[in-house]
Amino acid sequence: MAELAYEMLVEVMPFALVVLQNNPNIMTLDGTNTWLLRTADADRAILVDPGEDDETHLTAVLEAAGTLDSIVLTHGHYDHCQVAARVHDLTGAPVRAIDPSLCLGGEALADGESIDAGGLRVQVWATPGHSADSASFVITPPEGGGAVLTGDTILGRGTTVVAYPDGDLGAYLASLQRLRELGDITVLPGHGPVPGAAGPVAQFYLDHREQRLQQVRDALVALGADASARAVVEHVYTDVDEKLWEHAEWSVQAQLDYLRP
Ligand SMILES: [Zn+2]
Repeated sequence: MAELAYEMLVEVMPFALVVLQNNPNIMTLDGTNTWLLRTADADRAILVDPGEDDETHLTAVLEAAGTLDSIVLTHGHYDHCQVAARVHDLTGAPVRAIDPSLCLGGEALADGESIDAGGLRVQVWATPGHSADSASFVITPPEGGGAVLTGDTILGRGTTVVAYPDGDLGAYLASLQRLRELGDITVLPGHGPVPGAAGPVAQFYLDHREQRLQQVRDALVALGADASARAVVEHVYTDVDEKLWEHAEWSVQAQLDYLRP
């Protein structure tokens, strides 16, 4: 993916443009990717994940957006959706998400439905796991060579958290297996650069999860079956920056729930 500058519109694919929000941190990586989906000759765009509430970002997104068909959300974490209501107020475009409580002027997204806008067919896939309301969007342009927007389900670098208690590891593994079937279409993540094609990237995530699960099983043998999530983190996540341990604790809690049904 081309090097991104904050709050600048960049064409990543002929039908997928990004405005990178200047909100980098350990969870958002370089910042939030706000996506605009439209072909060159389309008169309306689909806006995906407008981002955090911030004047500079809002201005950049509105300038880039043109006329909007709709505002869709990959999930309800604030770094993706916080400014959605203001974009709705300013443009009149409906906000749509899996979680009905996030919708404004439009219906909740349903698994399998297609949005035909921006010169594209965009199919909604419910991909729960990172959060219960996580969605991915499979984009089919008229000339072929599609892409999938994955929000935080697949990131541009490293791996993601299963956000306990809302996330669910069993659901997450099923979502990754489903995304893997997309094969060689390009992953457009919610944070970070394009990591590659859906098939191999989803497989990498599945392998990582299986490896972590085995480490947690081993930790429970070493520490005792009723070990706390924190104790497991300190045993397993020795290769991860301590600043991430609090988040790792959520992931471990989700793994413990998975292993101790
Ligand atoms: Zn998230």
